[in-house]
Amino acid sequence: MRLSVVAVALLLPLAAAVLASAEQFDFFYLVQQWPGSFCDTQQGCCFPDSGKPAAEFGIHGLWPNYAQCRSSAGEVGLVDMGVMRRKKCWPEYCDDGKPLSLWEIKDLVKQLDQSWPTLSCKSGKSMEFWSYEWRKHGTCSDLGQHDYFAAALALKSRHNLTAILADAGIVPSDDDTYFLSSISDAIAEGTGFKANLECNRDKSGETQLFQVYQCVDRSGNSLIDCPLPMQGKCRDRVKLPPFVGDRELAVADTSAARAAG
Ligand code: 5GP
Repeated sequence: MRLSVVAVALLLPLAAAVLASAEQFDFFYLVQQWPGSFCDTQQGCCFPDSGKPAAEFGIHGLWPNYAQCRSSAGEVGLVDMGVMRRKKCWPEYCDDGKPLSLWEIKDLVKQLDQSWPTLSCKSGKSMEFWSYEWRKHGTCSDLGQHDYFAAALALKSRHNLTAILADAGIVPSDDDTYFLSSISDAIAEGTGFKANLECNRDKSGETQLFQVYQCVDRSGNSLIDCPLPMQGKCRDRVKLPPFVGDRELAVADTSAARAAG
């Protein structure tokens, strides 16, 4: 009897891990960040080891998501035992046994450096950003490492958000603001699908467009209309700040920010 209690106790975490890795999600968010808005914050930014990224939207991640939030405790049947319910709107960290291998994605690295650069001052190594995104989100995608990164790159290259906005007269500016609705409309028209938008605040507290969330079907191949609205902290009018900083300024910023952080 005692042995079986110990066996159950040992097997429960394993069962929970298997359940987590087998979790079904409903769609992906392809999240792209505007580098001008990542950098123009109190926190600032640093250029990665591969050099200053282009002044265009860069990939943040490809995130499996649920169409409806769930109770995570409910999934493993512990609610009846009085465990607190926690809302869970996406799966994450589905398999810690498969860290990202550079070998698996070696033919994609050049493209990833261009399209998925880190701007964080933590290490300046984009590989660390990709590894983090793989571990947190990619392991829940039902895709292998190569397919996961190739899918994100293919989706990004299908629609150039920077060009779509520019065609609608929405160009980076220190002074101008744009109606959020005109940004949404331009993206819907240019890609054929409605996306969600997220904003952040610049150093003086002004609202700027930070990230675009495009919705993608479960296969990771095709865009869909976003099934859920998002509370993206935007206002009616938002800025799109230029992505500035010449190489020298950025290097100076980089060392200062790393020393501080
Ligand atoms: P997530 O939003 O995917 O849960 O977490 C993003 C993580 O990646 C954070 O820990 C953040 O510090 C790190 N990171 C590294 N580079 C970047 C970057 O360029 N953009 C963003 N948004 N996060 C980055």
